[in-house]
Amino acid sequence: MIRFDYARPSDVADAVRRGSGAATRFLAGGTNLVDLMKENVERPEHVVDIGRLPLARIEELDGGGLRLGALVTNNQTAHDPRVAARYPLLASAILAGASPQLRNAATNGGNLNQRTRCYYFYDTATACNKREPGAGCGAIGGVTRIHAILGTSEHCIATHPSDMCVALAALEAQVRITGPGGDRVVPFADYHRLPGDEPWRDNTLGRGDLVTAIDLPAEDFSTRYTYLKLRDRLSYAFALVSVAVAMRLSAGGTIEAVRVALGGVAHKPWRLPEVEATLRGQVPSSQAFRAAAEHLITGAVGRGGNDFKIELARRAISRALRQAADGTPQTQSDKRVA
Ligand code: SF4
Repeated sequence: MIRFDYARPSDVADAVRRGSGAATRFLAGGTNLVDLMKENVERPEHVVDIGRLPLARIEELDGGGLRLGALVTNNQTAHDPRVAARYPLLASAILAGASPQLRNAATNGGNLNQRTRCYYFYDTATACNKREPGAGCGAIGGVTRIHAILGTSEHCIATHPSDMCVALAALEAQVRITGPGGDRVVPFADYHRLPGDEPWRDNTLGRGDLVTAIDLPAEDFSTRYTYLKLRDRLSYAFALVSVAVAMRLSAGGTIEAVRVALGGVAHKPWRLPEVEATLRGQVPSSQAFRAAAEHLITGAVGRGGNDFKIELARRAISRALRQAADGTPQTQSDKRVA
């Protein structure tokens, strides 16, 4: 049994103060942390329940854009009329994830901070550098079907499991954080980390840092977008490969702006702005999309069980770019890929 004390502060400053101690975890929807505690992976001595903090609103931002409170649930976010109409890429990605029951409990802040679903991370009888620094990595040389092909290190080949975050990366959201050092705003691309030499650090949060909101910029890409998710089951399964595309075409039909983010392939949503730059000014074409896909997966390395992801990603990127260019986004109600 894990013994921990429990606090439920009602203001952010108190939560940060309580969250700044060692062996402390913030609890929101609990859809990941509680599982990890049951599995003995997380063993906090102090749990700070942030469920009563005033962070459960979606607000308009000056100059356009929306602020998503950290405690708004995933379902409330996806079904908010403003999100659904103006940021359908984000709504689509959220609805591709988990199950309705989980999305009713899971929060936006928690979605960002959920841990990998690497089998070995959850199995305390195996080695895992993310769970226990310096222990080794059971996945390397083990079963790797769900593991990363890009941005890995010799210490960890885990993926980030979120769908929502892939869309947030493509939309260039910003993460608002408050902590012992004050408030700061982090561009989404800089929020999550690659494993490197410190695979136990998933993101840039420090002790006591609390995500308070996610800001969506005014440019919403509500016309040409898609979230294409490929997985082992049609629902309630994490992505093997997913692709979020946001695109804007000129009046003449050339690509004016495009963002491509990949999920299921790395320790963080994978974007290469230099590849996106090569598409700008081009007429949408299968040839251009295939070239971009090839470029995006440059350096991908399989570990046997996940070799298939390289070709899957190549095809998924091309298909997603085509869906976005044509204005025919992947539906999440019929998840079969046309
Ligand atoms: Fe742990 Fe990362 Fe290796 Fe999985 S891939 S066992 S999370 S170190």
